[in-house]
Amino acid sequence: MKIYISADIEGVTGATSWSEAEKNHNDYGVFSDQMTKEVRAACEGAFAAGAKEVYVKDAHDSARNINMNGLPEYAVLQRGWAGNPMCMVSGLDESFDGALFIGYHSRGGSGDSPLAHTLDTNLEYIKINGRYASEFLINAYAAALYGVPVVFLSGDKGLTEEVNEVNKNIKTLAVKEGIGNSTINIHPDKAVRLIKEETESALKGDYSLSKITLPENFEIEIGYGRHQTAYRNSFYPGAYLASPKVINYSTKDYYEVLRLFHFLT
Ligand SMILES: [Zn+2]
Repeated sequence: MKIYISADIEGVTGATSWSEAEKNHNDYGVFSDQMTKEVRAACEGAFAAGAKEVYVKDAHDSARNINMNGLPEYAVLQRGWAGNPMCMVSGLDESFDGALFIGYHSRGGSGDSPLAHTLDTNLEYIKINGRYASEFLINAYAAALYGVPVVFLSGDKGLTEEVNEVNKNIKTLAVKEGIGNSTINIHPDKAVRLIKEETESALKGDYSLSKITLPENFEIEIGYGRHQTAYRNSFYPGAYLASPKVINYSTKDYYEVLRLFHFLT
């Protein structure tokens, strides 16, 4: 069994403020350590379920957050951004049996996390077929391009509810809940223990039903914070300005959606 892990930091237990997610800030160390521990727990759960290879993508900001020394020997880690449209799931292809998303967070346009956003924090929101899209949804569709199911996700409660709406068979763990500018968090050791246990049990179960079917058509709406950005980006081939801060784009090919995000977010 070969497992792919995409990891972010805003959805690990405790993380509440941007300073805690930013390298070179005094607040950061505790949370990059926790990100490393939560990813390690997912690796260990996958290994216990029979995974022989675990590929980890550090997918936050610089993509150089996870401490390699904290990962098990059977894991490989992609650090930094390759610069391809797969972005947070770079390296994911049809050779993987399943994907795990760790430390994921609520979407832009949601009030369920003080750190809620989708891709770039300068965006107000992204919608896919009329629905607010989280990074979970964007990357789960990217995995679906290669027939890879998202088996397990950990993050904030608002996101886990969204995941269950998209596909109730995807196993989720809420390690925190956002209220206004605050979060209520489970203990870091408990998060680590539960991520390991639930990853193992999800991968030992029948996760064929957690596969997502790609829609036939994609109507994309990107809402920017600044009208200047929307105007500039409306010159991307096929995109148009729907209102001063919003561009629309439509395609049948999800890879083209990823390419759009790659250049316009
Ligand atoms: Zn992030």
